[in-house]
Amino acid sequence: MQIPLIDLKKQYEIIKNDANQNVLEILSAANYIMGENVKQFEKEMCRYLGSKNAISVGNGTDALVIALKALGIGQGDEVITSPFTFFATAESISAVGATPVFVDVRLNTFNIDPSKIEEKITSKTKAIMPVHIFGQPADMDEIMAIAKKHNLYVIEDACQAIGAEYKGKKVGTIGDIACFSFFPTKNLGCAGDGGMIVTNNENFATICKALRTHGSGVDGKKAYNLLNNIDENMEEDNCIDNTIYNPFKYYNYIIGHNSRLDEIQAAILRVKLKELDKWNDLRREHVKFYNENLKDTKFITPFEERNVKHVYHMYILQSERRADVVSYLKEKGIATGIYYPVPLHLQKAYKGLGYELGDMPNAEYLSERTFAIPVYPELSKEQREYIVNSLVDYK
Ligand SMILES: *Cc1c(COP(=O)(O)O)cnc(C)c1O
Repeated sequence: MQIPLIDLKKQYEIIKNDANQNVLEILSAANYIMGENVKQFEKEMCRYLGSKNAISVGNGTDALVIALKALGIGQGDEVITSPFTFFATAESISAVGATPVFVDVRLNTFNIDPSKIEEKITSKTKAIMPVHIFGQPADMDEIMAIAKKHNLYVIEDACQAIGAEYKGKKVGTIGDIACFSFFPTKNLGCAGDGGMIVTNNENFATICKALRTHGSGVDGKKAYNLLNNIDENMEEDNCIDNTIYNPFKYYNYIIGHNSRLDEIQAAILRVKLKELDKWNDLRREHVKFYNENLKDTKFITPFEERNVKHVYHMYILQSERRADVVSYLKEKGIATGIYYPVPLHLQKAYKGLGYELGDMPNAEYLSERTFAIPVYPELSKEQREYIVNSLVDYK
């Protein structure tokens, strides 16, 4: 039996009819940028998450970069984050000219350890960027309390955790601003790249909207006024909405980006968003089956915090003999993934930050032991039984 780590073809079969129809409609209408689907998808995401503003962008990394800029974070600033995450988390901080400051993770949740944050706060620290890694919410109460005490922003990297909940609240609605990715393999993925920023703060939302389209248009003007403390009444009547036909299109107020979600991607995401809760629940069912059947093996199964809904973007096992287990599973036709083989403080790209082996013992320990097995929603009963039996048989 061959089992991939993620099966996007199976997922496509589920949404095929609606997705195909929507995409064909967009192709014949030929309105590709910032059209009705983008607008509606942003509204639907606000409703789904319980957030006031959703600003779609080109990918999750851009979402992080634009969110950081909207908070005014840049050269000379420090942002505290996790070393056990995808590179883009820290890369976004570096991309705005700020410095990522790593704080080790908890061994059981793989999320940033709140008890180690305060010792890393300096006069340069502007924000904390927790990552809800593999779909498990970080310790947001503790993080928010530290942020409040030290007057810091909190930027949630929720790229792996759409639909996850912390004490009944959807992740992405707890910090000052949050970012999602719609990379195809994420729990909600499009047919290419896509991302989103969500925030309850109207001013941050305005600046994000301006930044995604070259700082132009009505939002550009509003963002300029906000950033320069200009209290000027907008002459809204001669500006229609912020589309490509916007009369303000060639009036640029701040330096921005070109980072938008395509109309076609938005249309596909609208179809998939309707299935998301069901898909996340299916992941959780697989997890229950795995946990029960693997509890008497040598593999360490994932820890789930009380008071959270973990959405298992990845199901992570730990083994002292990872290389051997992974090649054994490969022989059995079962794909695995290693997340993450190099913690960020030890990446070559961050050599200049001066970290050494031993600085983040938990992240380093995990990076040598963790591996992911398939947990995608469409996994069949036979497939997951085969996976469990193969792991139980491993000697
Ligand atoms: C996927 C991911 C990103 C980046 O998203 P892209 O859409 O690939 O740019 C950022 N942070 C984390 C934790 C991710 O998993």
